[in-house]
Amino acid sequence: MDILVHKYGGTSVNGPERIRAVAARIAAARTSGHSMVVVVSAMGETTDELIALAHQVSPQPSRREMDMLLSTGERVSMALLAMALHDLGVRAISFTGSQSGILTDEAHSNARIVGVKPDRIRAALGEGHVVIVAGFQGVSPVTREITTLGRGGSDTTAVALAAALGRVRCEIYTDVDGVFTADPRVAPAARLVPRIGYRACSALAHLGGRVLHARCVDLAARERVPLAVRSSFRDVPGTEIMEDDVEAPRVEAVTHRTGVSLAIAEGNAGGKGEARGILEAVSERFPALELVAHEQDGETHGALVWMGSREDAEALKAGFRELRGPGGEWRLDVSHDAAFVSLVGLGLGATEAAKAERALERSGVPLVALRVTPAALVFRVASARADDAVRALHAAFLER
Ligand code: ADP
Ligand code: ASP
Ligand code: MG
Repeated sequence: MDILVHKYGGTSVNGPERIRAVAARIAAARTSGHSMVVVVSAMGETTDELIALAHQVSPQPSRREMDMLLSTGERVSMALLAMALHDLGVRAISFTGSQSGILTDEAHSNARIVGVKPDRIRAALGEGHVVIVAGFQGVSPVTREITTLGRGGSDTTAVALAAALGRVRCEIYTDVDGVFTADPRVAPAARLVPRIGYRACSALAHLGGRVLHARCVDLAARERVPLAVRSSFRDVPGTEIMEDDVEAPRVEAVTHRTGVSLAIAEGNAGGKGEARGILEAVSERFPALELVAHEQDGETHGALVWMGSREDAEALKAGFRELRGPGGEWRLDVSHDAAFVSLVGLGLGATEAAKAERALERSGVPLVALRVTPAALVFRVASARADDAVRALHAAFLER
């Protein structure tokens, strides 16, 4: 029997009725002849609530214990879904990330999958079970600790399993019909995109389109996993993610990311070696902070820029002196609330940039900076104007 991987997000399993509806969908897919592996997220806002609870107990909770706490959200959903399937007369068994053989590195709160050993999953499928897997978590074979994959990481669990089970099809079920030309909550004129290439979709996800975890798109591209995004509420085709077309420049979507904090370190003594030491220490202690740039002016001046959450940027600032160690003269500044609005598509350049800048100007959105990447034009704008910028760029490029 062909294996099929489904993944259901937080809204899709939010409450007993929705869990029973998901069970009915899985039972139907199984009747059509598939062996099913189903990855689930935590119910509704559970992960946010657990994070808030931790901060009520402790101002700086340990990352290991945060992972122990957050991994429970997905375990609640998996057990409830298995029960709902039993009631439909379907054999089903739930597994945690570690029982499913999801092996990760040691980076608590933002771990990367380093291998998948789906022996128990294969055995359970062989016995005719639907296998339910807790998303967003794994285990480090080095430390034997439970890890989590970063916010939104259940999508990546699903694609990693689809790859390991023989590059089988992976369908991500969520609360919208598929990938849209912009976040439909911000741009009401946004349309469903029936097909999008891996590279354009990766840019969309990396630049803030939270409909897919960015690492899941990159993994699907690398492993050639057939990937789709579909509605868990409506039976409509959704979006297929596939090989990119090589053709004339085309804007596929507008995507945005708000509330970004920047941390900028500048130093002028010990030169490159010291900057490298800082880079390594930050990536070890703050795995979710993304390095944006490292500029080195000979041995005399270095600048490092990261972006990420307010908590990480503030924690880096508070611990920077200790982290950079003795010697050298380095200072670190943080700024909050940056917003990036991006045009996604391959081959975009000066022509599209000029048209976009005119559209932003007409809408009265001041542009702070523009960055050009192979699959996107990234505009930095004031956070308060991000939604206006999304609508202006959508109207200029994606509405007829
Ligand atoms: P899930 O809990 O199912 O993983 P998410 O909240 O992570 O769902 O992702 C779905 C949400 O992503 C949608 O409700 C939508 O608001 C948002 N979104 C952002 N950009 C896009 C886009 N380009 N297309 C579709 N949805 C988008
Ligand atoms: N529950 C986790 C989160 O809210 C993982 C996920 O939903 O994919 O980030
Ligand atoms: Mg998600």
